[in-house]
Amino acid sequence: MTLPDDTPTRHAQHGLYPEALTVPDFERNLAAVQARIAAACRRAGRDPAGVRLLPVSKTKPASSLRLAHAAGCRMLGENKVQEAHGKWQALQDLGDLQWSVIGHLQTNKARLVARFASEFQALDSLRLAEALERRLQAEGRSLDVFVQVNTSGEASKYGLAPEQVSDFIQALPAFPALRVRGLMTLALFSSDAERVRQCFVRLRQLRARLRQDLPTGLALDELSMGMSGDFEIAIEEGATVVRVGQAIFGARPLPDSHYWPDQPRPQETPA
Ligand SMILES: *Cc1c(COP(=O)(O)O)cnc(C)c1O
Repeated sequence: MTLPDDTPTRHAQHGLYPEALTVPDFERNLAAVQARIAAACRRAGRDPAGVRLLPVSKTKPASSLRLAHAAGCRMLGENKVQEAHGKWQALQDLGDLQWSVIGHLQTNKARLVARFASEFQALDSLRLAEALERRLQAEGRSLDVFVQVNTSGEASKYGLAPEQVSDFIQALPAFPALRVRGLMTLALFSSDAERVRQCFVRLRQLRARLRQDLPTGLALDELSMGMSGDFEIAIEEGATVVRVGQAIFGARPLPDSHYWPDQPRPQETPA
């Protein structure tokens, strides 16, 4: 398969996405993202039905999530479990809204995830798998999980190193409440499209290697990779889930280093 090597990142556009304030705003933004997904699929010779759009609502108020729901969103991604849990409580009346927790989770917060989330995309330790399993059993629930992989090599990013993933996956059948769906990564945050692409290539190639020796019943169908600034490149490299916040909800008021406090924050000076 020949893939284009010149799809740019759009990280420079962060901050330019206008805030979605009405249901038609959300409908328009969702349609625009779906059109970008379809175009990326065409370039890669893929069926757009093979790419799920996960809208990411972190930092946005519950009122804004209601508008997204009215515009058709039925699953929302949040990176902080306490924020997600609060919104879940505030939006219980919607009934059919599901939650995907996409950010690092401390073991002592596994209980919250087990209570309300349908999906967890940042599994990165056996201790956490054990805690989730125990809490899920107590709730009588199960959870779709993605193993987070650090494909950028940045010390600031969460996730297992690629060479640790094989042993980790072999241990997961011990946790029957966890339905292992695939791998997740955050690419390097860069305007250098080629280096961003390499992160996605690494995840795809890792999955291909893992698939040669998977425990029974485990398929690793999903690759969750790509966000507002780079999801087209991720799709060209095989993403089946793209996690898109700002292009749907509007820019977040502060730079990403604020929401991912463990990342280096070179541009910020103390107030
Ligand atoms: C915030 C976030 C996203 C979405 O980023 P946008 O720039 O808003 O599209 C994707 N994945 C994770 C893990 C996130 O925390």
